[in-house]
Formats: sequence, C-alpha cells, structure tokens
Amino acid sequence: MKKNQIITKHGILGMMLTVIITAGTLNVKAEEGMWIPMLLEKYNIEAMQEAGLRLSAEDIYSINQDCLKDALVIFGRGCTGEMISADGLLLTNHHCGYGAIQRHSSVESDYLTDGFWAMSRDEELPNEGLTVTYLRYMKDVTVEMEEGLIGELDPEEAQKQMERNMGKLIKEATEGSHYSALVRPFYYGNAYYMFVYETFTDVRLVGAPPEAIGNFGADQDNWMWPRHTGDFSMFRVYANEDNEPAAFDPSNQPYKPRKHLEIAAGGIEEGDFTMVMGYPGSTTQYLYSAAVRSMLETSLPVKIDLRTTRLEIMDRYMRADDVVRIQYSSKYRGVSNAWKKWQGIILGLTRNHAVDVKLEEEEAFAAWIEADGERILKYGDVLDEFAEIYSEMEKYEMAMYMMSESVMAIELFRQSSRIERMMNQGMSRERIERSMDGFYKNYYRPVDQEICAAMLEAYFSQMPASQYPACAEEINGKYKGDYSAYAEALYNKTVFNQPEKFLKLMDKYEKNSEKAITAFQKDPIVATANQFSDLLMEETGPVYRKLQELLQRNYQIYMAALLEMEQDRMLYPDANFTMRFTYGKVDSYNPKDGVEYDYYTTLSGIMDKATEGFEDYAVPEKLRELYEAKDYGKYGVNGTMPVCFIASNHTSGGNSGSPVMDADGRLLGINFDRNWEGTMSDVHYDPSLCRNITVDIRYVLFIIDKFAGAEYLLDEMDIVW
Ligand code: GLU
Repeated sequence: MKKNQIITKHGILGMMLTVIITAGTLNVKAEEGMWIPMLLEKYNIEAMQEAGLRLSAEDIYSINQDCLKDALVIFGRGCTGEMISADGLLLTNHHCGYGAIQRHSSVESDYLTDGFWAMSRDEELPNEGLTVTYLRYMKDVTVEMEEGLIGELDPEEAQKQMERNMGKLIKEATEGSHYSALVRPFYYGNAYYMFVYETFTDVRLVGAPPEAIGNFGADQDNWMWPRHTGDFSMFRVYANEDNEPAAFDPSNQPYKPRKHLEIAAGGIEEGDFTMVMGYPGSTTQYLYSAAVRSMLETSLPVKIDLRTTRLEIMDRYMRADDVVRIQYSSKYRGVSNAWKKWQGIILGLTRNHAVDVKLEEEEAFAAWIEADGERILKYGDVLDEFAEIYSEMEKYEMAMYMMSESVMAIELFRQSSRIERMMNQGMSRERIERSMDGFYKNYYRPVDQEICAAMLEAYFSQMPASQYPACAEEINGKYKGDYSAYAEALYNKTVFNQPEKFLKLMDKYEKNSEKAITAFQKDPIVATANQFSDLLMEETGPVYRKLQELLQRNYQIYMAALLEMEQDRMLYPDANFTMRFTYGKVDSYNPKDGVEYDYYTTLSGIMDKATEGFEDYAVPEKLRELYEAKDYGKYGVNGTMPVCFIASNHTSGGNSGSPVMDADGRLLGINFDRNWEGTMSDVHYDPSLCRNITVDIRYVLFIIDKFAGAEYLLDEMDIVW
C-alpha cells in the first residue's frame, strides 16, 4: 500500500473487524493484554474463566445490568478510582488525591505531613476543579466513522470527513443530556469506539493518611518492589436531589452509585486469580525497532539528564524551607515520577534485548509478507517506510524534546504562554488574575530562576547553532555566556515578578486588549519564550507533524497487517486512557540471578526500612506503637500486618487507583505502581518480570480504623471476611 493512501471501508478496516470477531482464544497469555471490557465475550472470556475468573462478561461490562464498570471512575484527569459504598465513598491512590490534599494544606494545618480525616460528613472538604467520571456505555462506531470515506481520498479531506462523522456521533449521543462523549481510535485507527460519560463535580476529601504512610518510601522506593506504601486516599461523590451531577452545594447528597465493590478482607495467596479494571493511559506495544532503539539510546537518556538537574535544584530549596517544600512537593513528584520510570525502562529494555526481539519479529513479519503476492501488494512497503520515516525524524526529535524538557521546564515560560493564550482568547481579567493567583501560590522565584539558567544552558550546549533563537546573541554577547546573569536580568525585569506592574497590564487589557497584548509581548520573559516557540512552530514543528502523520498512517497499515498475521492470537489495542480489563495472578518473581522476591510485604518491613535512617522511611509514631503492641485488630494475619502485594496484571500509568479484584470482583487492594524491572511493560511485556503493585485492602482498613480512628467509615462498606 502506498504512502498517503487512506484505508477505506473496502480495505483494511472491514477486514480487521472480521479478525477481531473471528479470532480464537489460542495462545493467550493470562498476564499480557489490556482488554476492551465491552468485547470480553468475543475476545477471551473463556480463557479468563479458565484462569480463575468466576464472573461472566455481563457481570463486568453490560448496558443491561449494573456491573463492575459502574463501580469504576476516572478520578481527576489521569487516575482511576472505585466506589466502595452505596453512599458515594470512593477509593483512589494517595498520589492521585495528592493535588487536592496539597491544596488544603498549609504550614499550620499540614495534611500532607499529618494526614486528614473527616470525622463526620460535615467535615469533608470540597475540591474545586476535581471531577469523577463514570463510563455509561461504549459503542463500536467504526462504520459510522468511515461514512463518506470511499475511494482514495486526500488525507486532509478524509480527516475532515472523519471529524464531521465524529461531531455527528457525539451530538447524537449527548444531545439533551448532561452526558459527554468521546470517540477514540483503536489499533492505530483500524477501529473506533465512542465512550459516553457522566461527570460529577462535587467531590469531597474524606481522608488521607500522612505522607509517611501514603507515600512511604517516596522517591527511594517509587517504581520498586518490595514496597510498603499505604498509597490510598478517600473521597466522596455528591449529587443533587435527583442523584445527578451538580456543582458544590452544601445541600448536595452523597451520590448513590449504580454499583459499588464489596471488600475482600480474606487476603491473598500466591497463585490467586486477580483482575484490574481502570484507565491505562498510553502504551506503545507495537513500536517499530528503530523507535525502541532511539528511545533507549537518545531520547530517554537526554530527558533523564535534564530532569536530574531540575530535581536537584528543587530538592535543595525544598530542604531549606518548609513553605517551599509544600509549594513544590506536587511539582517535584510530577517531575521525578517519569524520571525514575524512564531509568527502569532503560534497564528492562536493555536486559530483555528488546531491540533485538523487535528486529526478529520484524524479520518474521517480512517473511510472512513475502510468502503471498496479495500481502506484498498490501503491505510490501510498510517496513521500508518505517525505516525511512524514522531516519528522517531523528533530525527533528532532539528539538522536540529539548523544547518540552528544557525550555518548557521553566515555570515562567510556561505561565507566560498560558497568559498570552488567555489574552488572545479574550478571557476576562478575572480569569487571568485567577490563573496568576494559582500560579503564585506554588511559585518560588529562586527555584525557577536557577532552573531557567540551567535549562537554557542545556539547550544551547546540546542543540546545533541552526536551532538557536535570537537570545543566543545576547547571552553570548552582553552576558558573556553567563546563564545565571542572563536569567537574573530576565527575572528582574519581567512583569511576572512585579505584581503591581501586572495589575497595570490588566488595567490596560481591560481598556484595550490589543495594546496590552503588544506590551505583554515585549516583556523579556514573554519575548524570550516566544523566540523558542516561534522557532518550533515555524521550523521544526510543521516538518515533525508531517512526519508524525506519515508515521501514523504507516502504523495503521502495519497494525492491520499484524492483526491479519496473528489471527490465531489475540492482539489487544494499545492503551489510550479508555477503560480496560486485565487479569493475572498473585506472583513472586526473580529480579536477577540468585534473587527471589516474595509476593507480599508486611508492617515489619516498614520498621526494618526505618532503621536505614533515610527520611523517605520515616515512620509515624502512632504506627510504630500499633506495631509494637501488634494491635492489628482483625486485619492482621498470624501476628503480622500485610501491607502490599504484587501480581502479574498488565497495567500502566492511569491505572493508579485501580481496583485489584478477586475472581468474584471483590476489592483486594488498590493498584498504585509497577516494579522497576517491569516498567518497560508499556513497550515490551515480559510475564516473568512485569508486576503491578497493590496496597492490600487490609492495610487500608487497618489505617482507617486503628491508625486514624475513623472506623465509622467502615460501617458503610460491605466487607467480606
Ligand atoms: N505509579 C504509577 C504512576 O504514578 C502508576 C501506575 C503505573 O504506571 O503502573 O504513574
């Protein structure tokens, strides 16, 4: 198939659907795969039941009866949560509720450090901007999305036609209701599904343990097993008197969900069936070998280095001042999370020879094509196309991630482009000032100024001179290459560091927005940030986008070919932050030769780690007392208190907060992480190494009851012992 050719109804799309529907259940590895809940019946429900599942496909996803999907939510923008009571009680991770907990925290009432527990419903804390979203139904709309795509259309025309089709579908699905809808491509655009959602906006904080429990081990342990983190927080969803979404109002009532999960407090054993439902964000399981190579050799190492520099700067200031620590805690975690994960990915992919594995797969794929004339016609060019596109992309990639990881790592640069966009969109002075207030709340000039100097230095030392914006001359001339002096000058002069001048700018904006925008663009921060973004928009960006489009089209053809080639094997679509179902079993693993990791951890491991003396392993006094008195209530087992466990469920970012359930769909714990050796699973899944990490529900109950004294919350849960 030729470059630029659009696949139509008579082409690959229809064929691929046939493949999905007719494919058998051979060779399914229990551990690998993020399955579309609506298709379990057609996919591989029998294999799941053979592996231990005791539910039917309808119990998991149905539009005719309440089912597990109704107990599941998108929490905030990037996490999962689950309903655990008929009164709107919801569990997610501590790191998912972190932003909300931080916003309620101050040096005087530091909920991050001390935890927070509402002792009655009146004490629950509202969270502006926080949402909880339920999937009401999903629908295969592949045929509707193809409407009007007949013959060989120009790609742009085809794109426009698809956008029209999508608009029509969304309108039909949501008109006259408070639902929203989304159409997402699957298998690189070989299929489309629509998702209809109901979003609640009154979501209140009920409880969170102190960071020393909810983030025990912090960076030291992040992405690692053995783990001892009580990574949970609790919220309650509120609704109006019709049980429908409503803005925060004290008279709102707890939302009555269609389904909530029972809690399995009986514990787990090695080999037990487990399943996870949630919203994995993004995986690239079918990546071409050159892309994996470039990730390993170039993009990840460069990005890791840039973040190391940023993190060192933040850390230094956070240690010196408690106010800065609170201001930057959430930002720091955001930066360090991917930074550490990337290091795990490099380790895993290298150890697994992932590039060689991909090359072997591509060889087999090429042989499969060569064996058949029709295949040669349809797919003959696909691998060569990849090689060509990726080698062209290499020239531009560095500019793209230097832009996102260095230039846009500077807070004032990011904020300046946000404010400029708001002004250009004609937003009210009030909204702009609100954005600035929010920004200042967590901004500390010395941190950002030092990051600015370091990031600009990194940019100019790593990019070719052809990619220098005009400020290079000033830096090298007037400032003689002294980035700190240059940053100091920018930060002294900018309106962002002179709030009274910003207010004057807003006065001007109210009178004459155009003049104000012109004045704003002369601000040294705005002007410098714009030099970089212009360079990107005018030079690198357009070529890069074109290449991305070609790549996307080639992946569509490649994926269609893979689906045809692998008819006997289920191929699951890459994650795209839509609801998925995955299953596996509680399982230990060997991280390296001669080492075996057990499948669970206990409270005594927390005390052992505490003796190492790192501050990431600080233990709250109350927890130590409970440990010493072995006061575990009904949650302990033979004198120990279970904390976390691992299983072989195939999860990803976005699965944070997902319920880890037993064969009957009862809650065993909350998913919060993956192991270091297995973070590569977004690209390359290895069942012997990849594990998801779960906080055991018994530890969650123990903390709520024994540690926090909020046992009244347990009364509304259905706990099965
Ligand atoms: N701990 C992960 C994160 O914060 C979430 C779960 C995962 O990626 O496995 O992104």
